[in-house]
Amino acid sequence: MYTTLFDFGRLSSRIFGGLAVTAGIQSSIMSSSDKAKVNLLDFDRASMAAWFEARGEKPFRAQQVLKWIHQQGVDEFTAMTNLGKALRAELESVAEIRALAVAADRKSTDGSRKWLFELADGNRIESVYIPEEGRATLCISSQVGCALNCSFCSTARQGYNRNLSTAEIIGQLWMASRLLRADGSAPVSNVVFMGMGEPLLNFDNVIRATRLMQDDFAYALSKRRVTLSTAGVVPGLRQLADASDISLALSLHAPDDALRSELVPLNRKYALREVLQACRDYVGEGRRRVTMEYVMLKDVNDSDAQARALARLLRHVPAKINLIPFNPFPETRYRRSSAERINRFRDILHNAGIVTITRRTRGDDIDAACGQLAGDFRDRTRRRERLGVATTES
Ligand code: SAH
Repeated sequence: MYTTLFDFGRLSSRIFGGLAVTAGIQSSIMSSSDKAKVNLLDFDRASMAAWFEARGEKPFRAQQVLKWIHQQGVDEFTAMTNLGKALRAELESVAEIRALAVAADRKSTDGSRKWLFELADGNRIESVYIPEEGRATLCISSQVGCALNCSFCSTARQGYNRNLSTAEIIGQLWMASRLLRADGSAPVSNVVFMGMGEPLLNFDNVIRATRLMQDDFAYALSKRRVTLSTAGVVPGLRQLADASDISLALSLHAPDDALRSELVPLNRKYALREVLQACRDYVGEGRRRVTMEYVMLKDVNDSDAQARALARLLRHVPAKINLIPFNPFPETRYRRSSAERINRFRDILHNAGIVTITRRTRGDDIDAACGQLAGDFRDRTRRRERLGVATTES
């Protein structure tokens, strides 16, 4: 059964089957008088220091305020007790700390958790929390939907709406941290840009958010613990090398251009040779490696010959491979490779001397797995309409 394009309530009830979705959040997020206020979640340390300076304040206020916001999870100026009363009152009148509204919050039996966050314009995005032995990873979104249209991805079928602001990107980590603290859950130790969207097509806002993730006055995550995953936007990769030192993952998925162009249409613009060269340049001569993501699609990219071709392709690239069992979604023509096939594929890569791991599928019961992030938004590409994508289960 197909719903109308903008039937948000019903789409959410598919994603969050059975769970009540908070009503009327939109109106509570932003009253009209708040509209003119500066959202401090949009600032990294440098831009916040400049903002304080422009207001005649000492730039070190930025460090104090960042700590309150990002380390203490505070969203009210009255709580910022190391600021004078007058400054607190002034901040109250011109600024705000406005994160995201929780439209739904689902916990998997395996400990992972998925949030549907509602933005001020009513669009909805998803983030996933994945606790493991010794670490807890938050998978975040960088755009509302995605424009790249990879053939095996559920977000792609939903279409694209817009870039997320810095506040909306860091807001996912800020919200998760607060909610996890309230629950006594392990804090986020790693962030991956593997949710909805292509982070390198939202470059400035993504980079500003990663600066906060790495800032000692905010989340203080090391470069190893922040990973950007890209489908291979070459100019973005070049820019990233100048702007950042975070870890890199490439959605590779195929050992040759013909198949990759079918799976990841962006490959028609930036072919493998060019993309792999940009990856090599990004990590340089050191010990770092690029994580190559490879979704295992039955009878499409999972043969022995393809494993050998992949090993040859990566001979001169400092890489490790992450095999991702395909996560099916309604209307997909792909199927997941069998466990035996995935093991065999892994062994061939191992024997060729490439570190290869198979990603464990988590959060199956809450649709939190890779490529399942569907969000809930107005699609500007009209792709949903063209494809006749069902937004509810029949
Ligand atoms: N646009 C970025 C980040 C988002 S996708 C990128 O392309 O890397 C995050 C990862 O999930 C990518 O490796 C993507 O290829 C993978 N993925 C998408 N759909 C999937 C699915 N149905 N099953 C398994 N992995 C999927």
